[in-house]
Amino acid sequence: MELSYQSTRGGEAGVTASQAILKGLAEDGGLFMPCFIPKLDKSMKELSAMTYQETAYEVMKLYLTDYSEGELKTCIERAYDSKFDTEEIAPLAKAGGSYYLELYHGSTIAFKDMALSILPHLMTVAAKKNEVKNKIVILTATSGDTGKAAMAGFADVEGTEIIVFYPKDGVSRVQELQMVTQKGENTHVAAIHGNFDDAQTGVKKIFGDKEFARKLAEKGFQLSSANSINIGRLVPQVVYYVYAYAKLLSSGEIADGEVINVTVPTGNFGNILAAYLAKQMGVPIKTLICASNENKVLYDFFQTGTYDRNRDFILTSSPSMDILISSNLERLIYLSAGCDADANAAFMKDLSENGAYTVTDFMRGFMDDFKGGFAGEEETRAAIKKVFDDTGYLMDPHTGVAACVYDRYRTKTKDHTKNVIASTASPYKFSRSVLEAMEGKQEEPDEFRVIDHLAEVSRVPVPQAVEEIRTAPVRHNTECDVDKLKEAVEGFLS
Ligand SMILES: *Cc1c(COP(=O)(O)O)cnc(C)c1O
Repeated sequence: MELSYQSTRGGEAGVTASQAILKGLAEDGGLFMPCFIPKLDKSMKELSAMTYQETAYEVMKLYLTDYSEGELKTCIERAYDSKFDTEEIAPLAKAGGSYYLELYHGSTIAFKDMALSILPHLMTVAAKKNEVKNKIVILTATSGDTGKAAMAGFADVEGTEIIVFYPKDGVSRVQELQMVTQKGENTHVAAIHGNFDDAQTGVKKIFGDKEFARKLAEKGFQLSSANSINIGRLVPQVVYYVYAYAKLLSSGEIADGEVINVTVPTGNFGNILAAYLAKQMGVPIKTLICASNENKVLYDFFQTGTYDRNRDFILTSSPSMDILISSNLERLIYLSAGCDADANAAFMKDLSENGAYTVTDFMRGFMDDFKGGFAGEEETRAAIKKVFDDTGYLMDPHTGVAACVYDRYRTKTKDHTKNVIASTASPYKFSRSVLEAMEGKQEEPDEFRVIDHLAEVSRVPVPQAVEEIRTAPVRHNTECDVDKLKEAVEGFLS
């Protein structure tokens, strides 16, 4: 059955999956959502015998219904190959009373690889299907991980240019080095003098600028997005929750039908929304624990029903979660309002005009599967150290936030349902913060000495992606002001 997509703000409907992937964001500023959430047509038992790639096909075929079986399988094969350092693609590790679903075994060692290694393939097939003649310009705002993963995915992909904006002082040293050393003639990156929200808002503004789109079209370009607002990001992320449950089943950790909880370190709300979609598709998930850092706008939202971004933006050691406008929450708002696009559009108008909105009691009830929690910097460091000291398992600060939030949730609710924590980055992407957590003191300035020291202390091998940037030459050095993003785009494309 054909699944079509519509904008969460009502401006577009009847859009095919491939069109939605090409567009990224709807023209009215809304996000594309399917008109219903499909159910898995294989049992968990059947899925438990499948590889990651086979599982990916079973999930993605239900959403991307205008892709042929051959097209989809080719995309999957090209994405989930030896770029990943394990055949399992997303292995599960058991430590300290939870299962860690490691989503960082791809080429840029953060969970963004799970979707961004397939998005370029989905996009080029979509371009062919829709007879796109223009060059596709991928415009991306990043809090650190998306940018690198998108550049790695799109580097030298024919018919595309990739442009990334990241906050100058808002990313880790490894994240920055990964981006500025990126190879590929079609890759462009600029550090902006602002934070992630400034970057994301600026990029969204460009997407909404019809005059600019016309100007680009005259030069043979059209814009698309690699941010998690693109449905082509969201759908591949559903796969690993299905896979995780299936693996727990095949390894005998759970019984068929047994419910599990899932804890996700959250920023833009894409990863946890994928878990929610997995639940709606039939994976026995009970509670979705949404873990925030000190930018706890989502915690407050689940606590009170009011989303309020009017607060200070805090730079933390989990920069990929330093976000006050969680874009993908709009998809949950839309669903909880019974897919009422007008109601959703009114909330989003409130958000852009007043920085806040309050949902109805009915909508809050609809979202009852979500429980919010947050962890401060000190507690996160303590969580990283405790799990390492107790079990030898090393985690990055984003995962540390989740571990801390989950621990508190379990103590408070006495809910001992088995729990999967989404482990979203290699600890080496944030070596300094991780080592400081373990040693309780500030580390020396040289990043690579810190990395080597962490390897000595933890006995976890340094990943290839980090070794590569040790000596790689810097290829990008553009900086720009937050009100000059458009000019930067024009500069890159000329
Ligand atoms: C992007 C990212 C997150 C947040 O994921 P969202 O889908 O934006 O909620 C968490 N941890 C890491 C390491 C990330 O890169």
